[in-house]
Amino acid sequence: MSYNTTVPPPKIVDREFIKPALCGPGPCDVWPSVAEAYSKPVITPMCDEYFHVLDDIREGMKYIFQTKSKLVLALSGAGHAGMEAVITNLVGPGETLLIAARGMWDERAFIIAKRYGIKVEVTRVPLYATFKLEHLEAEIKRLRPTALFITHGDSSTGTVQKIQGLGDICHKYGTLLIVDTVVSLVGEPFLTDAWGVDAVYTSTQKAFSGPAGISPVAFSARAEEKINNRRHEPPFYLDIKLLAPQWNCYGNTRSYHHTLSPPMLWALRACIKEVLKQSIEQSWARHAATLAHLHKRLRELSFDFFVPVPEDRLATVTTITLPKGYDYLEFVKYMRANHNILIFGGIGPTVGKMLRVGTMGINSTIKMADEIADGMADTLRALKKSSL
Ligand code: PMP
Repeated sequence: MSYNTTVPPPKIVDREFIKPALCGPGPCDVWPSVAEAYSKPVITPMCDEYFHVLDDIREGMKYIFQTKSKLVLALSGAGHAGMEAVITNLVGPGETLLIAARGMWDERAFIIAKRYGIKVEVTRVPLYATFKLEHLEAEIKRLRPTALFITHGDSSTGTVQKIQGLGDICHKYGTLLIVDTVVSLVGEPFLTDAWGVDAVYTSTQKAFSGPAGISPVAFSARAEEKINNRRHEPPFYLDIKLLAPQWNCYGNTRSYHHTLSPPMLWALRACIKEVLKQSIEQSWARHAATLAHLHKRLRELSFDFFVPVPEDRLATVTTITLPKGYDYLEFVKYMRANHNILIFGGIGPTVGKMLRVGTMGINSTIKMADEIADGMADTLRALKKSSL
């Protein structure tokens, strides 16, 4: 039998690739143990051996999220899967989602919520700032939304939002608290239960130092009640009601929903083990110490920070403004070409306004902070003549 194929095979050529140090807002370099973990033999995720992997991930994530909730699992997809899942599982069409907007990720939450017919209300602060809890309380009191969406660490602006106390405020008005911790978990203190967070999601390519493609989530008892009593249907692939049995959240329900990716799950498990080598408190302290060192070096070199209030500065991503006349993209290119360090310019609302420098996960070390600062000092000098 011969077939008349009309599309010729492409030439797929392997190219020389010099890997830079990944010191932008993510993805970050991966731990060697993680790279080793995702090359383990691929087996079916529906077997006894593999169920242990899922259980390890659930227990590990409970520790890292600091929650005793049963409804903890990981979604097959990047951070956006977590975002879409928490919004659509908790807020139905016609219900109100209040978005506390201060960067790129809140804009994404807006787009997602709109697609599902959710009524979206937005309250804003400038890109360099964070919200005062009184501001949020006034908005929640006025709008009585089903949920508030807020980003803990914002990689597009370099800010960290105070969450402590916000859960109690939300609950006073019957509102659920949804928090994005994609770029902050592991790098910044975060206490899901103590802070009254109802839904939280993260991703592995940032301070976890793993590959992108899996998104751990946790839901509180309040959120669980909403999920169990809601009248709307979220997207099938992200339906927590259907995923909970696959992850055995309530014991002895190893059902099939979709095929989980063993390499991704091995990788997440290895990321968790890296955190457990220290404690979560030590991980937060390491990120804080690296940040303090990087900022000291940058101050000595006369760099300006985009975020004026030091307490608002995120431990994992530092945002810097360059003196007038410098081109951000040229700066990024020079750093890559001459120092083999990849940092980023702005994204979304911060394009052309800043450099974004990441010190997270495996790259949260004094040595790496020094390499970045040395590279940036050289780049500043080298580009001076041509751009001023
Ligand atoms: N939230 C934050 C704070 C992020 O930094 C990112 C990714 N940079 C996302 C959400 C989206 O994650 P992903 O690209 O993994 O979908």
